[in-house]
Amino acid sequence: VKRAGRHDFRFFTAAMQQRAARHLQLVNALRYALERQQLHVVYQPQVSLKTGRIVGAEALLRWTAPELGAVSPAEFIPAAEESGLIIPIGDWVLRQAVRQARQWLDDGLPPLVMAVNLSAVQFRAADLPHQVSQILYEEGLPPEYLELELTEGVAVQDPQGAIATMNALHDRGIRMSIDDFGTGFSSLSHLKKFKVYKLKIDQSFVRDISTDAEDKAIVSAIINMARSLGLTTIAEGVETVEQLEFLREQLCDEMQGYHISKPLPPQEFEALLSKQRD
Ligand code: C2E
Ligand code: CA
Ligand code: CA
Ligand code: CA
Repeated sequence: VKRAGRHDFRFFTAAMQQRAARHLQLVNALRYALERQQLHVVYQPQVSLKTGRIVGAEALLRWTAPELGAVSPAEFIPAAEESGLIIPIGDWVLRQAVRQARQWLDDGLPPLVMAVNLSAVQFRAADLPHQVSQILYEEGLPPEYLELELTEGVAVQDPQGAIATMNALHDRGIRMSIDDFGTGFSSLSHLKKFKVYKLKIDQSFVRDISTDAEDKAIVSAIINMARSLGLTTIAEGVETVEQLEFLREQLCDEMQGYHISKPLPPQEFEALLSKQRD
């Protein structure tokens, strides 16, 4: 038993060391990612289940470094958050996405809402509402074309502070949605106080929606609760027509997922959008 224990301990340490080394490597490389122009943004369509038309786009960050290849945001966003680099990187993504939305309007494409992910670290920065307004003003985009995707995590440490920040964003005309809804154990009583306008139903509930009775019940309950609170719903990770049909039956408002399109580079998104010009 002792020997096995010692062995486990050594193994554990090695794994931890490896993780720490990878983290350091990512943070070091990420420091130069912006100035070396290794970051870019892709856009995934959000579609109305009623009309089938694209009503929004979610901006998703991509990073390719020569020495690392393509690194998944699921891996580098946490490293960016822990190192504080998420602040300049997050500002950059927001500006890119806002500028892109302005460009598409100028090109006469059908208007859409640009959704941008916001890390809890960015959300807690004191000047966030001002910073967002400033970027909108500088890029010339009216606030109603922007939506910030927040996770339930933003309210865990300091619910009162989160409510104050949301009120400030709301007063500036900026819309907010709750990302990964259902995974954060957020109390429903909070939802009333949060100035959010949309719930994004997490893809873990959508995945088995056509076969799993529990997932069906959860998704249906979220949609009904949202409707009675006057909130819009969007389902994430929709990959099949069966999932789509269930969501439509339940009167979910919007969907996003590979069934419509994976996240696209700007030119490809533009091509898709211009096809649905009347
Ligand atoms: P998320 O915000 O929940 O984004 C949805 C993720 O699901 C994206 O992964 C998207 O590419 C993927 N996805 C979309 N449709 C489908 C589908 O039909 N099936 C499946 N299996 N997946 C689908 P991605 O782009 O790898 O991003 C992962 C996470 O990284 C995001 O999760 C978000 O939390 C974070 N992230 C990405 N870009 C940013 C950013 O600019 N800022 C911040 N703070 N976080 C970001
Ligand atoms: Ca998101
Ligand atoms: Ca999500
Ligand atoms: Ca997620």
